[in-house]
Amino acid sequence: MEPLTPSTRILQIIAGHWLSCSVYVAAKLNIAELLANGPQTVEALAAASGSHAPSLYRLLRALAAEGIFEETSKGVFSITPAATALQEDAPGNVKAFVLALLGEHYHGWGELLYSVQTGGIAFDHHFGTDIWSWYRSHPAEGLNFMKAMTAMTQYVDKAIIAAYDFSGFNTIVDVGGGNGALLMAILKATPAATGIVYDAPYVIEKTAEAIAANGLTNRCGVKGGDFFKSVPPGADAYIMKYILHDWYEEDAIRLLRNCSEVMKPGDKLLAFDAVIPEGNGPHPGKLFDITMLVATGGRERTAQEFQYLFEQAGLQFNRVIPLALPDVSIVEGEKL
Ligand code: SAH
Repeated sequence: MEPLTPSTRILQIIAGHWLSCSVYVAAKLNIAELLANGPQTVEALAAASGSHAPSLYRLLRALAAEGIFEETSKGVFSITPAATALQEDAPGNVKAFVLALLGEHYHGWGELLYSVQTGGIAFDHHFGTDIWSWYRSHPAEGLNFMKAMTAMTQYVDKAIIAAYDFSGFNTIVDVGGGNGALLMAILKATPAATGIVYDAPYVIEKTAEAIAANGLTNRCGVKGGDFFKSVPPGADAYIMKYILHDWYEEDAIRLLRNCSEVMKPGDKLLAFDAVIPEGNGPHPGKLFDITMLVATGGRERTAQEFQYLFEQAGLQFNRVIPLALPDVSIVEGEKL
């Protein structure tokens, strides 16, 4: 095959943006769900989704060219394996992630230039408030974001459990544990351990429901609070997934110090985040890092940068444990 010309390469990247916008609209209009029971005409899809049939046809034709939906006869579309990832409630679906990352986060991406020129947070620049306050005051999007994070956890939880032995821990606190997906997966794999999900009060109401639905109420509690004020004491492991990457150095160190202050010698702190390798090679964390730049003001980090944060917080940096998936690694720290 001929190598791509420089112009073709850039044009393909631009088309990737158009494609992701098209995926967002299909998700927003629930097209994948409407096709769950069999093929539908575009007119029926337009009527059921409240959209303009000729325009919807063009959207679905463009998506079908990428294997997302298929035009099985003229004007009739059906589901494809790729499109099932947009079906709410389908196992392993990423619909909530699509709605969040191409919904409210999109406005941050629209102001990426602002972030790169000033170092400021594009999301805050656009909305006039930080993302966590915005979610508190937009409960539907806030709940959707927590579903998105749960899906991201379920994407990696088996790889985490395969890579780390949690059986030595009695009590695990998941700091910023969201709706509890990771801690519940760990507790299911570690029958002797108990745990607490610690997160903002508006988040943990749903977390308590999820824990009850999983039959783990006797081993897993919830606590609402602000992790910049304090972290629950009494555990021998503090875990935090997709937390440190939300914060810039000063805040990340403050949060780690709050953990360090309640930890006893030998207790472990495990951060689950992308760890950016040296060099020019591709790594999913390198673009996630830009999402952090525009949406939260945080960042993805190298192993050395994690070591710096841990040491500033009074924790020993032990090691980075890679997972089968490159998206996340386990960064282990320890209280001396
Ligand atoms: N660990 C979860 C959620 C990550 S999203 C997962 O990987 O799926 C970041 C989480 O940090 C959200 O649940 C958010 O509610 C929580 N958070 C943000 N600021 C917080 C604060 N000041 N105190 C407690 N939790 C906070």
